[in-house]
Amino acid sequence: MTKNITTILAAALLGGSSLCAAAQNPDAKFDSWPAYDGTDLEMTVGPEGTRFTLWSPEAQAARVFIYPTDRNTAAIDTLEMHRGDRGTWRAGVAEPLYGKFYTFSIKHNGKWLAETPGVWAKAVGTNGQRAAIIDFDATDPDGWAEDRGPVLDHITDAVLYEMHHRDFSIHPSSGIVHKGKFLALTEPGTTNDYGQATGIDHLKELGVTHVHILPSYDYNSVDEANLPANQYNWGYDPYNYNAPEGSYSTDPADPAARITEMKQMVKALHDAGIGVVMDVVYNHTANNDDSNFSLTAPGYYYRHRPDGTYSDASGCGNETASDRQQMSDYIVNSVKYWADEYHIDGFRFDLMAIHDTETMNRVAAELKKINPSIFVYGEGWTAGDSPLAPERRALKENVSKMEGIAVFSDDIRDAVKGHYSNAADRGFATGKPGNEETVKIGIVAATAHPQVDYSKGNNSKFPYATSPEMIINYVSCHDDLMLTDKLAHSMPEADEAARQRAARLAQTIVFTSQGTPFMWTGEEIFRNKKGVHNSYKSPDSINAIDWNLKHANADQFNYYRELIALRKAHPAFRMTSAEDIAKNLVFDDTKDTPNLLSYSIKNNANGDSAKEIKVIFNGADEAREVKVPKGDWTVVAEDGTIKAEGLSKAQGGKMTVAPVSALILMR
Ligand code: CA
Repeated sequence: MTKNITTILAAALLGGSSLCAAAQNPDAKFDSWPAYDGTDLEMTVGPEGTRFTLWSPEAQAARVFIYPTDRNTAAIDTLEMHRGDRGTWRAGVAEPLYGKFYTFSIKHNGKWLAETPGVWAKAVGTNGQRAAIIDFDATDPDGWAEDRGPVLDHITDAVLYEMHHRDFSIHPSSGIVHKGKFLALTEPGTTNDYGQATGIDHLKELGVTHVHILPSYDYNSVDEANLPANQYNWGYDPYNYNAPEGSYSTDPADPAARITEMKQMVKALHDAGIGVVMDVVYNHTANNDDSNFSLTAPGYYYRHRPDGTYSDASGCGNETASDRQQMSDYIVNSVKYWADEYHIDGFRFDLMAIHDTETMNRVAAELKKINPSIFVYGEGWTAGDSPLAPERRALKENVSKMEGIAVFSDDIRDAVKGHYSNAADRGFATGKPGNEETVKIGIVAATAHPQVDYSKGNNSKFPYATSPEMIINYVSCHDDLMLTDKLAHSMPEADEAARQRAARLAQTIVFTSQGTPFMWTGEEIFRNKKGVHNSYKSPDSINAIDWNLKHANADQFNYYRELIALRKAHPAFRMTSAEDIAKNLVFDDTKDTPNLLSYSIKNNANGDSAKEIKVIFNGADEAREVKVPKGDWTVVAEDGTIKAEGLSKAQGGKMTVAPVSALILMR
């Protein structure tokens, strides 16, 4: 979901005027609704019985239906709810109803609305239609009480690997038994046809610190009752925010299975030293009037236009209203729940700028209380205009108003490889001049630097980050053409080897830049998606990773692995303050040479063992001569090869940087 209109929004922001100062506000009435911050929404169960608490201030009546199974059965009991405090409705029975299912229905404007599992269902059956009453303690895998994710002092120490459960394991070459399931990531020892590691062993070999899993809450599109149909979806169509997706479990009809199996996945990754970041999509729901939000508190959770229609900053038909107390609390409590119950180590917020900065600050602060290693980042843009004033939006340009929140850098993304939606456009790493200053913005993580001229930035005109911990660097993700396909489109004359070389340079820029590096699954073995830029519901033939490419593109994999090792071995690439970057990172004067950038990181920056690291990028299709100070240098990257521990020695002086490559030296 990255329709990036930051430029438009930035203009509105800098102009200081709201894009849509409404003459009237159809949502004004919601401000007077009482919020309910109790922890007992919507069902609690224990020896003392089963209690239901639904927040629905405007309902005229409310009911709970109790069912024996997850679908296709009649209710065995109906409980009339009575008004409670602060907009709630309550009902209860003396028995713990373990094994049963339930739904709510409210009377609104004289009509009973369709049944809903509510907005706080933590366990659900097939297609999430009925909420389930289960014993959560029984869902914990062995050793869960001792389970811990990796300890992280700074987000900049993370190496993020974005992946989709099905892409990662569904291809026959994965050698994985539980293809397309949470359990795929619990299987050690899996290999491709050439005996090379796949699955979780591959992640360990690659060296990434965190997987960022595409939406894994219960989403709407894939029919869990018909899994043999092999439907595919990224999952940006939220249905139940607080229960895992059923199609990733071995039995969607068993509410405990999806919970236990997701926990097993988290534990297996944690045991491998890898953290788990969840992609969360609180900015919109799959349905409008039929969403669980609409069926419990009609209107409240969404923003509307002056004519009463749904506003649509998500581009998906609606947008939620984090600026309203109960929705803000909902987002905060939902991520807290995932962190507590599932030991999630980080959260990636889809279209984060639909949310207000105050809510995002609460999210980060509350998560840090649970686990100081948890981090939060998101898309600092919207996909359309919103009634929320631009200065309140969690925009990229507002990241410095937030604490503990990072945003994706579209600056480095587009400058390195070319424009994200213009397939033919090239960037710095593919020979197009004019992007040098924007790449420099990426290198310094959008912080203020005396040698970076923001007036020449393509996407940003001011240093919007006050710390490198506010920036996620990337050139490719699930959205738009992945790097492999982008290179095929923009370099039609180049052969596969030349495109792989460009990919190496592009990722070397990302992984040596200040901020936090992020990559998309399978790029390390140069997989592609057959040129499909929006593969959100494309079949496996487009999205699945063919793991035999690890054999065909072994050199590419080795390059990525060494590149990650280089970053992890050198804290100089991971400075934690803007002041340190301004002081220690010094650019050489290359302004007269297009597609050439050169800089040093000096002073054993951030405790690095190297006194000085020299980094030179040549995005031109011809060799460049550069002057490196005389000294005893260790070459770690040269001419499309890289080795963290060093390739060779050099004495400096006049050196050649091969076409489309990085030269990195240390002393
Ligand atoms: Ca689902």
